[in-house]
Amino acid sequence: MVSEPINPKPSPKPRQTHIVLSSHPTRFGPKPIALHWGAADPHKRGPIIGTVLNPAHRNVIGTHSGSYAVYRALAVASGQLQSNHRADLTNTSPAAHIGPHPAWSDPDRIVSLDPFGALVGEVYADLCEQGYDIRPSIAITQAHINMPELQEAVAKGRLREDGRIMKLGGDLVVTKAAIEPVWYLPGIAKRLGVEESILRRTLFEQTGGMFTDLITRHDLKVFLPPIGGLTVYMVGDPTTIADPDKPLAVRVHDECNGSDVFGSDICTCRPYLVHGIEACIQTAQEGGAGVIVYLRKEGRALGEVTKFLVYNARKRQEGGDRADAYFARTECVAGVQDMRFQELMPDVLHWLGITRIDRLVSMSDMKYKAITQSGIQVIQRVPIPADLIPADARVEIEAKKAAGYYTEDDVLTEESLANIRGRELSD
Ligand SMILES: [Zn+2]
Repeated sequence: MVSEPINPKPSPKPRQTHIVLSSHPTRFGPKPIALHWGAADPHKRGPIIGTVLNPAHRNVIGTHSGSYAVYRALAVASGQLQSNHRADLTNTSPAAHIGPHPAWSDPDRIVSLDPFGALVGEVYADLCEQGYDIRPSIAITQAHINMPELQEAVAKGRLREDGRIMKLGGDLVVTKAAIEPVWYLPGIAKRLGVEESILRRTLFEQTGGMFTDLITRHDLKVFLPPIGGLTVYMVGDPTTIADPDKPLAVRVHDECNGSDVFGSDICTCRPYLVHGIEACIQTAQEGGAGVIVYLRKEGRALGEVTKFLVYNARKRQEGGDRADAYFARTECVAGVQDMRFQELMPDVLHWLGITRIDRLVSMSDMKYKAITQSGIQVIQRVPIPADLIPADARVEIEAKKAAGYYTEDDVLTEESLANIRGRELSD
C-alpha cells in the first residue's frame, strides 16, 4: 500500500537546474557591494546581503534566518514555498529606536551582529528600491509578558504594580529585539586570538564542509552562521539604557529550555532569570531601565542531547550526583566544561549603547570578565538569593561557587563539596 503524501495539496516542485558553486568565477563578477565593517555611515559600511535570490548580489557567506534557513530549504524542496519569494516588509519597521551609538562605528567593539540590522528598510531604502533583497537581521517589537513568579513577588510586596511599567494584574510592558548573528570573521578571529585562516578552515571542517565559501571566498569577510541568535527584553524607557546617569540592571541569560520553560529543578536557571526580571522592574521603576539578554546557547552551547547525557552520567556515577564532580562529568562527555564563548556576548550590550551597569544579575565570572574587559563598568554584582535555589540544584550552584562564580557566601571546601548531593535518577 502506498502511504498518503505529506503535502495535502499538490504543489510545483522546485525546478531542477544544474548546481553552480558560489566559488565559480562567474558567480562573483560583477563584484557585489563592498562591506567596510565598523564604518559609521551605513552606506559606507554597506548592506549585509545574504539573499539566495540573486547570487551576484551576495556579499556574505551563508544566508539569513540562522538555523531556520534549513527549514526554508525544506519548504522550498517540498514545494510549499516559492524559491523566488521576496519578503514584503511593509509595516515591519522597529517599534522602538535603538542607536546609533559610538560603539557601532568601532570595528573591534561589535563583531557578531549587524548594528544596522534593524534599520535596513530605512538606511538602505534606495538600494531596496533598486532591487537588492536586503533583509533585517534585527526586529524590534513591544509586548506584555506575565509570569506567575512575578505575580507572587507582587503578592509578597517585593514588586509594585505602577500601572505603567507593570500593569494591574502583573502584566509587564517590554520592548523586545530579536537578533540574528552576523559574524565579521576578522573580528571574531581577533576576539578568539586565532588567525582568520585557521578560524575559516575550522568552521568549514567542523560543519562537515557546509560552507565552501569559507575556504574559497576570502574576499567575503562576513558569515551568517546557521546557529541560534538572541533576544533582548527591555523594561522601562529604552532611551535611558545608554544614559550612564540613569540606573541600569542587566541579566545576560543563556538558554536552558528544561528549567526556563519546563521548570526542571536540577538547575537555577528559571529562578535566576525571574530574579533578573525582578531587578529590571525595580530599576525601571527607579527611573532607569532593565535589560534581559536571552542567548540561544542551550546547555552551555553544547546542546540538549549532551546536557541530558551529562545529567545521566552525574546521577549514575559512583557516590551519586555530587558538587565536587559537577564539572568533571561535563568534561567527560563534551571534552570541555563550557562552549559558550562569552567573549562575543558583550556585543549586544554595546549595540544598546551600554557603558555602565549598576546591577549585573549574574554570578558567572566568565560573563563578568567579558563585560568589564569590553570596557563596560559594572557597579554591583547580584547573586541569586539562597531561598530561590531548588534543592536538587545545590549541586550546580555550590560547584559553580567553588569554581569562582561570584558569591557573598563562604565557598565550600573540596570535602564539603563531596557532601552536597543531588537526587538519584529514579527518585
Ligand atoms: Zn539550567
